[in-house]
Amino acid sequence: MTKTQIYKFGGASVKDAPAVKNLANILRNRLRNNFVIVVSAMGKTTNHLETILSLKLTNQDYSWNSSNLKSYHLDICTALFPEGHVIFPKIENYFILLHHELNKPVSKENYDEYYDRVIGFGEMLSSRIVMEYLCSQALLVLWQDARELICTNSDFRFAKVDWEKTRRNCQSQLRPKLEQFPVLTQGFIGADSSGRPTTLGREGSDFTASILATSLDAGSVTIWKDVPGVLNADPKLFKDTKLFSELEYQQAAQMTYYGASVIHPKTIKPLANAGIPLFVKSFLHPEENGTKIHKTAKVETVPTIILKKDQILVSFKVTDFTFIEEKHIHQVYEQLQMLKLRANMLQTSAITISIVVDSQLFKLEQLLAKLKNDFIIRYNEGLDLLTVLHPKPDSIPSLLDGYEVLLEQSTRNMVQVVRRLN
Ligand code: ASP
Ligand code: MG
Repeated sequence: MTKTQIYKFGGASVKDAPAVKNLANILRNRLRNNFVIVVSAMGKTTNHLETILSLKLTNQDYSWNSSNLKSYHLDICTALFPEGHVIFPKIENYFILLHHELNKPVSKENYDEYYDRVIGFGEMLSSRIVMEYLCSQALLVLWQDARELICTNSDFRFAKVDWEKTRRNCQSQLRPKLEQFPVLTQGFIGADSSGRPTTLGREGSDFTASILATSLDAGSVTIWKDVPGVLNADPKLFKDTKLFSELEYQQAAQMTYYGASVIHPKTIKPLANAGIPLFVKSFLHPEENGTKIHKTAKVETVPTIILKKDQILVSFKVTDFTFIEEKHIHQVYEQLQMLKLRANMLQTSAITISIVVDSQLFKLEQLLAKLKNDFIIRYNEGLDLLTVLHPKPDSIPSLLDGYEVLLEQSTRNMVQVVRRLN
């Protein structure tokens, strides 16, 4: 049997009815058995569900938001299906279930578990709509609940994959189906060993594609994006970008580590270990080659700009007239780990440790509470972390025009700057 191919379609590729039609067109000449299609929630649905969750948590009215989300999905269906199609009661049903969940109590303590029960509705809605549409176009696909495949621990919102169980599920449940039909499933979601819904972290659908690929010993993974492939900067933010036609796994992984959002950071490692190539292609120009990430001797040295927004710079100053020692760094890192926060940048001086972290609901508050007795803590929010790999002398100044620099670090192959709009 030919090797399995995995196609992953993100939110932008299913954001409205024309996008779903375009997806079907991409599949029209490519689809065969032994194909897995992974889809994300439509457009910005996950963000909207997050808004509903935070309104609910703060006891505010979210009815306007939820009816908007429902009409968004129903409008897409109206444009794709004839009146009376089975998809309409299915969507109604999902919203009844969603409201049932939303009517349950939530507190800060059980928020992460609650979040995972609610947030996956975006993926459920999207995968149902896309599956029904493909079938209506004579592109027969089987629908599969990813929570029956992706087995994780119970680290809600950031669940870790149980690779062995997932592989067994894929081999026993997915493999037989794939021998006959293509299968469509959801990204991002999984379940723990008691069957409780979990998620793999925001934008985790790429990672799902990679998990399924390794579990099925696939031949390749293709991620369909609204950009031509992996570029040396985000074309939505910078001009004159360059497309990498190929990249070595580690270089691509490094770019995602610093915040290149084109691929989820966890996607590459499993594929690299299994030697499965990853293609990043444009769903707007599917015939173009895009980028191939694989084992290659080619080393790219084109300056690559990566911008991470919504960063917080926190500085911890020792209070006892001592200097910074390893134990202080350890103390800060221990708390970061407990809060599942990663220091995107670290700098130490004689009496302070400075770290840069992503802004996440409640996390800063908790970090400050834990460490306020040992350090004098200051922080700045709303910052950009700019990373330039392989910088040339003229790469940096134009990036700082109109900005104030709060922190800077450079090595031969990289410059990192924390900047704030003047
Ligand atoms: N829908 C989820 C999110 O937006 C997962 C994904 O798109 O990869 O985070
Ligand atoms: Mg998404």
